[in-house]
Amino acid sequence: MRTLRTVPELRTAVRAARRQAPHAVIGLVPTMGALHDGHLQLIRQARLECELVVVSLFVNPTQFDAAADLAAYPRDEQADAGVASEAGADFLFAPRAETVYPDGFSTSVQLSGPLVESLEGAHRGPGHFSGVTTVVTKLFNMVQPDVAYFGQKDAQQVLVIRKLVADLDLPVRIEAVPTVREPDGLARSSRNVHLSGTDRTKALALRAGLAAAEHAFAAGERDATTVQAAAVAAMTDLGVTPEYLALVDPQTLAPVTEIADGTLVAVAAPVGTTRLIDNTILGSNPNGRR
Ligand code: AMP
Repeated sequence: MRTLRTVPELRTAVRAARRQAPHAVIGLVPTMGALHDGHLQLIRQARLECELVVVSLFVNPTQFDAAADLAAYPRDEQADAGVASEAGADFLFAPRAETVYPDGFSTSVQLSGPLVESLEGAHRGPGHFSGVTTVVTKLFNMVQPDVAYFGQKDAQQVLVIRKLVADLDLPVRIEAVPTVREPDGLARSSRNVHLSGTDRTKALALRAGLAAAEHAFAAGERDATTVQAAAVAAMTDLGVTPEYLALVDPQTLAPVTEIADGTLVAVAAPVGTTRLIDNTILGSNPNGRR
């Protein structure tokens, strides 16, 4: 695996690979590093489906709503390079911040409407998703992949990226990869390293809330308010109050009053000083594990 830092270096490497195998499918796995089993699953899936796998590693400052969160974000490029290589990446594209956002950078790619204004958009501020869509558009232009892999753990992000690709006719297919969890159900996240002993236990509240919604649905309950209350109660029982726990349409993110197969349950909650998110699709994934 080669680590590349600049856009010309990346372009030369990708162009050479395309010249060698003109029909090669190029896969991109965008990450912010601190790679864990969730990222690995994305890289492995890319490896299975693509001839060339590019993993990008860039802690994108423009998608952070709080400077402290950006400063505390875990970074270990050396370890990440080992993990990405082992999972089968051909190139690790790890640009410096000045490469992505040179002096005078003044363009942003911004969606509007409920996809970016609800849930994470409402709670993290309007800049979050424009930071995501701007950097992802840039990464797509830099790498020019045929396929890009995103985690269902960030369900709203997947919808936002799909909309970005559709609206701008970007020539890339988006693949969503199911959420990878710890054995006890906690969704893998780079932020989990910040969870201390008791917070690690409390973090299970998110999964418990989602499980309560799944159980209520499986038991025949269809009223969204009732299911939401049961899910929130399961969380507060474990000492965690959600920022939001929403039952929404899985495509539009519009709140539903009656739940059905495919309803998305999305949750965000602070656990200690760490903000966690998770989600489940009702009916399709009864215990939320893979
Ligand atoms: P991040 O480095 O947190 O920006 O994540 C990079 C990609 O990995 C995103 O598409 C995430 O949705 C995905 N991802 C993060 N955690 C998981 C997980 N536990 N399971 C599956 N994908 C994940």
